[in-house]
Amino acid sequence: MKPIPYGRQHITQQDIDAVVEALQADFLTQGPRIKEFEDKFAAYVGAQYAVAVANGTAALHLCTLALDVTPGQKVITTPITFAASANCVRYCGGDVVFEDIDGTTVLLDVERVRQTLAAAPRGTYQGIIPVDFAGYPVDLEAFRRLADEYGLWIIEDACHAPGGYFTDSKGVKQMCGNGAYADLAIFSFHPVKHIACGEGGMITTNNKDLYEKLLLLRTHGITKRPDLLHENHGDWYYEMQELGYNYRITDMQSALGMSQLSRADEGLKKRHQIAQRYDAAFNNTGVKFITPGAGTSHAYHLYVIQVENRKELYDALKKHNIFAQVHYIPVHTMPYYQDLGYKKGSMPKAEKYYEKCLSLPMYPTLTDAEQQYVIDTVLQYAK
Ligand SMILES: *Cc1c(COP(=O)(O)O)cnc(C)c1O
Repeated sequence: MKPIPYGRQHITQQDIDAVVEALQADFLTQGPRIKEFEDKFAAYVGAQYAVAVANGTAALHLCTLALDVTPGQKVITTPITFAASANCVRYCGGDVVFEDIDGTTVLLDVERVRQTLAAAPRGTYQGIIPVDFAGYPVDLEAFRRLADEYGLWIIEDACHAPGGYFTDSKGVKQMCGNGAYADLAIFSFHPVKHIACGEGGMITTNNKDLYEKLLLLRTHGITKRPDLLHENHGDWYYEMQELGYNYRITDMQSALGMSQLSRADEGLKKRHQIAQRYDAAFNNTGVKFITPGAGTSHAYHLYVIQVENRKELYDALKKHNIFAQVHYIPVHTMPYYQDLGYKKGSMPKAEKYYEKCLSLPMYPTLTDAEQQYVIDTVLQYAK
């Protein structure tokens, strides 16, 4: 059996042709494909606006900038995520407040967040960054209610969940990143994610002011739009109105992203089939897996199991050429955050989850034979 990774991109001839076409066109960077990709992605998740950027981390940074996070502001997030979900607060000098997860969903526990907000004077906290971990859509309606009560903003880290949705209290399917409840949402187009651009990211929103601010901040804070200029010396004239960055994506990457996006539904369907097969195989075996709640459509970026002998299983799988992965080492236990005073033992559920979790191979091109081999090997060694 050839090596089986936990995730991998799926590049087709159609993707290659799309990139070659972009290479032969007039613009390698700021060309027409960026806006086209943004429009198509916004339509895919059901948001009004989308801003394509260099990567998911840049997307998060632009969000905290656009929301005016300043030194000392407090923002709540989950420890079970990729470090960037928390780091974006630090980039602006804000303080990260980790809250523990719900042990069943492995998502930021809304009840704990409620208790934390209620225990402090109003105005203590500025925002919440929930993460659709593994592709499990967060109930953003519940977070919105809290956020409105306490005057907070929400950035949904939807990197794992393009195509996922939850059903709100009115029975409406709310796609991850559609901007109905979160102020801003972000996605990544790193090759292990659903849609690969090499590097790439996207911010979606229904807020026009934030959208326009993001456009400025993405490219140095510079604008040429006549309606926004303070002065106008001629057609060459531009103004740098804010301290922005170069967080642009390229036309080549957007070409790849659009081609990938056209197959997103197909890929998601395959991920669901793989998950169903794992679920059936692990049912009643002692290998614990996560079952999404009613009305929730999981996007299965990851397929996570929880076992008592995680390290042993990880090593055994590796010997059998199966490269499982651990998502995630709780962010508050990272040396950088330890140095800031965050304590091991402070997030018991997240830390207990970390002891047991393992992400099994999950990607659209995983074959039935490969998956069966993974299942058999897991069942042979798991306790
Ligand atoms: C991948 C990822 C990011 C960062 O995206 P990059 O494109 O790698 O910068 C942020 N948050 C989560 C949850 C991710 O999985």
